[in-house]
Amino acid sequence: MNRRKPLGIAVIGAGRMGTDHVRRIHEVTSGARVAAVVDVDTERAKALAARVDGCTAYTDPAAAMTAADVDAVLIASPGPAHEADLLIAFEHDLPVLCEKPLTSDAASALRVLEAEQRLGHRRVQVGFMRRFDPEYAKLKALLTTGQLGRPLMLHNRHRNVASPPFFTSSMLISDSVAHEVDATRWLLGHEIAAVTVLRPAASAGAPKGLCDPQFVVLETDGGALSDVEIFVNCGFGYQVQAEVVCERGTARVGDGNALVTNMAGRWGGTIAQDWSERFETAYDREIQTWIDATRRGEVTGPSSWDGYVAAAVCEAGVRALEEGGRVEVALMEKPALYR
Ligand code: NAD
Repeated sequence: MNRRKPLGIAVIGAGRMGTDHVRRIHEVTSGARVAAVVDVDTERAKALAARVDGCTAYTDPAAAMTAADVDAVLIASPGPAHEADLLIAFEHDLPVLCEKPLTSDAASALRVLEAEQRLGHRRVQVGFMRRFDPEYAKLKALLTTGQLGRPLMLHNRHRNVASPPFFTSSMLISDSVAHEVDATRWLLGHEIAAVTVLRPAASAGAPKGLCDPQFVVLETDGGALSDVEIFVNCGFGYQVQAEVVCERGTARVGDGNALVTNMAGRWGGTIAQDWSERFETAYDREIQTWIDATRRGEVTGPSSWDGYVAAAVCEAGVRALEEGGRVEVALMEKPALYR
């Protein structure tokens, strides 16, 4: 890679996330250009590639990854497609930003870990973007100072306006709570040891048969509890909130009160309607951090190990949802590459 030239990125998946990342790399971040767009849907790939001068549309990820102007890969296809693309990227030793989930289950995540270890160096940053959200970053920095004492509990709320038609009850865990799994591990510095999922009455606002909301309890190996209210058809907005309760104080983020108005005897603000609005800055910082690290020849941020652990915890969570009771998380020993 010529470090004086912008990094040429192949974006795989021209759906919602891929389109937003192409716009971001083209208009917001610096140091990179979108060299290729890949989608199984030819017309989609062509339409998105046409927005960027000199960008080529592909349907075959392998063809894009061998193009001379491609130096790095951003995977934004659906989770079950990630493993194949990651393995091709490793064959060409290309740096990857892989949207969450790393892969859709722990067994495939393990195969990715093994392949990356055979390369002998880290190649992947996983798209757990909350680590780049200014509010979450402040919370992490505060916890790191130790001023509040030992963290005992973390209360999380994760609400969406409405779920997409293909959403299943287990996807509330594997697609949505996956973010709180990573946030819990990152904020507290603990591993998750066991998962319990409780089911309140389903909301009349949820599609028939969908267990929504759910209440998830994550037990950590540091003796803390992290609970997650996941409610993907709340109807009123996209809200992600977290409150850490420590021995000497508490701290919370996500109240969305950056702008409070007072008018006609009422006070209030607005609620974001989706993740692209609430986490816009986080995505910008995530992608810029990845570009900068890649240009320096480094890999930083959430690793394939973090992606594997999230998959393993979510798998335990789905079992807890389906079978009831408390399910322990079984993790392999952390390989040296990720320590
Ligand atoms: P989407 O359904 O809008 O788009 C997916 C696109 O990938 C479609 O255009 C589809 O044709 C294409 N595609 C399907 N299989 C493919 C393959 N094998 N190779 C190439 N292209 C393929 O989905 P989305 O909402 O954009 O989600 C994409 C990824 O981003 C998922 O992994 C999702 O979990 C993740 N995501 C992350 C966040 C976040 O907050 N970090 C938010 C939303 C989505």
